[in-house]
Amino acid sequence: MSSADYEKLRWQEAETVRNLLKKQNTLLGESLENLDHLIYLQKSINLLSLQEIFQVMVEKLPFILSIKYFTFFLFDKNRRRLTLVSHNHPDIKEEYSLYQNDSPIMREATTSGRYIFEQDFPASRYFRGRKNPLFSCNFFVTIPLMIENEIIGVMNLNDNENGLYNVGDLDFALNVSEFVALSISNAMLYERAEKLSITDGLTGLDNHQQMQTLLKNEVVRCRRYNSPLSVIMMDIDHFKDVNDTHGHQKGDEILLDFSAIIKKFCRSNDVAARYGGEEFFLVLPETPIAGALHIAERIREEMANHKFQSKDKDFKVTVSCGIAEFDATHMQEAANLIKVADLALYKAKHEGRNRTIQGSSDDLLDT
Ligand code: GH3
Ligand code: MG
Ligand code: MG
Repeated sequence: MSSADYEKLRWQEAETVRNLLKKQNTLLGESLENLDHLIYLQKSINLLSLQEIFQVMVEKLPFILSIKYFTFFLFDKNRRRLTLVSHNHPDIKEEYSLYQNDSPIMREATTSGRYIFEQDFPASRYFRGRKNPLFSCNFFVTIPLMIENEIIGVMNLNDNENGLYNVGDLDFALNVSEFVALSISNAMLYERAEKLSITDGLTGLDNHQQMQTLLKNEVVRCRRYNSPLSVIMMDIDHFKDVNDTHGHQKGDEILLDFSAIIKKFCRSNDVAARYGGEEFFLVLPETPIAGALHIAERIREEMANHKFQSKDKDFKVTVSCGIAEFDATHMQEAANLIKVADLALYKAKHEGRNRTIQGSSDDLLDT
């Protein structure tokens, strides 16, 4: 081999190595860039509320995953329903939800627990024509989000500029989906714990503490805007006897039925709470005393007419109600309002039970 040939060979070899290194550097650069995105995403969705996470997904996912559209559905395993909670798709109406079986691709992803990647989605067996608002479409990726072998949701990705999704993109999307699953599961656990801490375990109504907090807020609002605010305090009559006659378990059923009656007459801004044992409390914002009287009487009548059964025999249970309206001139705080309702309830008991008595701030002077 001449020295010129030798030089040429060395040069070629060096060029090959250079090209290889360049390629590896590009790959490494891409991974590092991806890693940056991952860390950024993780920082932005960690420790947020569910709603905030869904918002961040809209802002960041398309850019980070190099896709045009995404939809994210929460999966309710028991009801077999998928509910759309985050997306950037222009054609989908809000509050879209569907049965697991209604989407062939999501059905398969949620039953197999595996992702599905279709490079040419319209040609795939999952495609159901252009009517479906989720697909526009070239490639389509469906990723089930798993936490401890439970599927909590499904992420769908589709479309980008060049119509292709490569293996690297897919791999990255799978990593991202694990992050998202973890953050969502944390947020769900946190929200569930929050809800438990303000809810009565038996009836699902707000508990005493929560009712106190919300009533205080309402009193502040009512003072600021001079809006009416009323409350109803209710207590089941002779409940001790009911328990003694029909058993504690039947007593619990009665508490549940009564709370269902209360819920039935509640509007969305009302606060329905279990005040204690067999005592219940309703906070009625924007409601003058006449409205409170109307609601209390409807609840009382519904309960009085409700037939309970024990050992094949019907029996009835009644409630007494005390109602009060916030009077900014004579009441300083929420406790005064509770006191007036409590005094009225006491009077209702004293006057024979199964009735509603209206209290007034004058009653505070007698105590
Ligand atoms: P009144 O008409 O004066 O209100 O009489 P009452 O018997 O309802 O009142 P009292 O305060 O003497 O008794 C309340 C009863 O409520 C006693 C208690 O065992 C029962 N109770 C409280 N919480 C629960 C519960 O969670 N489940 C059941 N089954 N009973 C409960
Ligand atoms: Mg009672
Ligand atoms: Mg009581």
